[in-house]
Amino acid sequence: MTHAPADAVARRAVAPVICYPNDTLPAPDLALYRAAREGAGKVAEVVVAPREAACFLVGAGQFFRITSVEGPQVGDLNLWNAHDLSERFYSGKTRALHGTHVTTGERLWSSFPHLRPMATIIADTLDWYGIDDFGGSVHDVIGTRCDPYTGTLLSGVQYHHCCHSNLTRAVADELGMSLSEAEPHVHDVLNVFMCTGFTRDTGQYFMKASPVRPGDHLEFFAEIDLLGALSACPGGDCSSEHTSDTAACFPLLVEVFAPAPGALGDWQSPPRNGYDRSHGR
Ligand SMILES: [Zn+2]
Repeated sequence: MTHAPADAVARRAVAPVICYPNDTLPAPDLALYRAAREGAGKVAEVVVAPREAACFLVGAGQFFRITSVEGPQVGDLNLWNAHDLSERFYSGKTRALHGTHVTTGERLWSSFPHLRPMATIIADTLDWYGIDDFGGSVHDVIGTRCDPYTGTLLSGVQYHHCCHSNLTRAVADELGMSLSEAEPHVHDVLNVFMCTGFTRDTGQYFMKASPVRPGDHLEFFAEIDLLGALSACPGGDCSSEHTSDTAACFPLLVEVFAPAPGALGDWQSPPRNGYDRSHGR
C-alpha cells in the first residue's frame, strides 16, 4: 500500500459537500395529493406471489400502494412510462438527488432525456426506522436487483427466480414479448421494504432483516401514466440470502386507487426535462 502523505490527516478532514443540493427541486404538493387520496376509490389490485413478479397499470393522477401481507417480504419495483418504455425509473439519479434510501415526499425520477418525476411517495409506514447503528435504512436505491448472472458468477448456480428473471417473465407476459425482448426493459429497482446500507469498514453493500411487518405499506402518487412491475424477492425479508429457495417468502399486495373527478384541480403531469439536447453543437 502507498505510504500516506504527511498531510493525510488534513486531507481527510476536509468537510464533504453535497453533490446535488435538492432544495431547488420542484416540491410535490403533498397536501393536494393527500386530499385527493382521501376520496379515492380502489380500481385494481394484484397479488404478487412469492418468488414471482406481476405487472400493473396506474394512470397519471392515481395512487398505488404496496403492502406487506402474511409475513415480512421485500419487493423489487420497476416503473416505465406506460406509452414509452424508453422512459423508465432511474435508480442512480434518484439516489444522487435524494440519497441512498427514499421515503415520504421524495420522488422516483425517470431516465434521460426525460428526467422528471414518475411517482411521488405520499406515505411510508416504515419512516420511523431512520438510519440504524449499522448505517442501514429502508427502501433503497443502491442495490440493483438480485439476478441470475451474479449468482452464476459468484456461486456457479443456475437459479431462475431472482427478481431480474421474475420481472423479465412478468414484462414478457404483460406485453406479449419473448423473454429476450423483455429482458432489456428490466432495470435497476427501488428495493421496497429492503433494509440495506454500506459497511463502514469495507464499503460493501449489506442487507439485514427488513423491519417490515404485515400491514406496512409504501404508497405513491403516479405523476405520469405508469406500467409497474413488482417482484416478491426470493430473499423474503432478506435476512440471510436471496438467490435460492431457502428463505421464507410471502406475497405482496399492490392496490391502485383513483381520486374523485376534479379532486386534483388543474394538476398536470410534469413536463419532460427542459435541457435543449444540443450537447454543445
Ligand atoms: Zn430480489
